[in-house]
Amino acid sequence: MNIKVPFVDLNLQHQPIKSQLQQAIADVLTKGDFILGQALANFEAEFAAASRTEYGIGVASGTDAISLGLQACNIGAGDEVILPANTFVATLIGVVSAGAKPILVDCNPQTALIDLQAAEAAITPQTKAIIPVHLYGQMVSPSQLLDFANTYKVLIFEDAAQAHLAEREGYKAGSVGIAAAFSFYPSKNLGAFGDGGMVLTRDSEVAAKMRRLRNYGSSQKYVHIEPGTNSRLDTLQAAILQQKLPYLSQWNSDRLAIAQRYDRELAPLASAGIIPIENQSGTGHIYHLYVVKIDESCPLERQKLQEKLNAVGIQTGIHYPIPCHLQPAFSYLGYQQGDFPQSEKLSQQILSLPMYPGLNNNQIKEVVNAITSSL
Ligand SMILES: *Cc1c(COP(=O)(O)O)cnc(C)c1O
Repeated sequence: MNIKVPFVDLNLQHQPIKSQLQQAIADVLTKGDFILGQALANFEAEFAAASRTEYGIGVASGTDAISLGLQACNIGAGDEVILPANTFVATLIGVVSAGAKPILVDCNPQTALIDLQAAEAAITPQTKAIIPVHLYGQMVSPSQLLDFANTYKVLIFEDAAQAHLAEREGYKAGSVGIAAAFSFYPSKNLGAFGDGGMVLTRDSEVAAKMRRLRNYGSSQKYVHIEPGTNSRLDTLQAAILQQKLPYLSQWNSDRLAIAQRYDRELAPLASAGIIPIENQSGTGHIYHLYVVKIDESCPLERQKLQEKLNAVGIQTGIHYPIPCHLQPAFSYLGYQQGDFPQSEKLSQQILSLPMYPGLNNNQIKEVVNAITSSL
């Protein structure tokens, strides 16, 4: 099949800075400081500063950033952690591997973000933290989160894996709670050439514990004060990410402009049941994904639409087709079909359209025309 509009195209961001990336890789080769090297320390500081917080601690993946980050905040066995049911499963895996008890809650059907009223109803004396997932690149309202945390005396640990440099109400993603987790999986808004992740925090104790946890629980060689693990962001990956970071704001604004164009061009299709997930955070939404709902009033089922688009070379995705509480691996948590109706409905209705910096106006038109003629 001839792909006319791919779902993502990373070449568009890498080709223009290819020589710069090659130089950064060559520099690490020359230096040879592959583990916990200079480029890592530099990138940690630069990413923390760009996110308007204090410390960055690079780890092997976003999943480890959640698991180790929670542990660094002393969240674990005996603690309940509230998180949305409609997130990528890694959020849940992170909570479980930290040893805490995950408490899933439903989402707002317009924004697909965690429903804080549902979170309120889930508070117990054991609740230690809430994980707002800044899903699709849109932050959960910081003011509402801070009110919530203050009222119920719980910690905020942000899953910002889809929200590098997103902003809302004057806050950058990763600067709202005690700590935050980021992923540098290649297709994230800021992506490495492999796996990677980071914890951001402005708490020096959390940062120090994080540095131990990712390095066998050690702050001094061969002295281990807690059972940590081996989860470090490679110097090589950090060097690549450091080269890409200065372009991130521009890439994010490209995505926003593309989303705004999609919004305009798709508006006439609202009556046919094609409804974009709402942006309630203005220009701070960084559109990791551009997601529409194919609702009950649409004459075509989502799967049929997806097949028709695919047949004309337009790739789409579903983020995510099965909510966390219905994943076979987590049936032991005891959740059932019907527990989180909004998350379940969204999982049936959502469709992610092509979205990446460099997606051009003709391609956007092509996507919208293909949807229109499919209906
Ligand atoms: C990508 C992602 C993760 C996990 O990151 P990895 O680097 O793939 O481990 C966690 N949470 C969310 C919301 C993500 O999108």
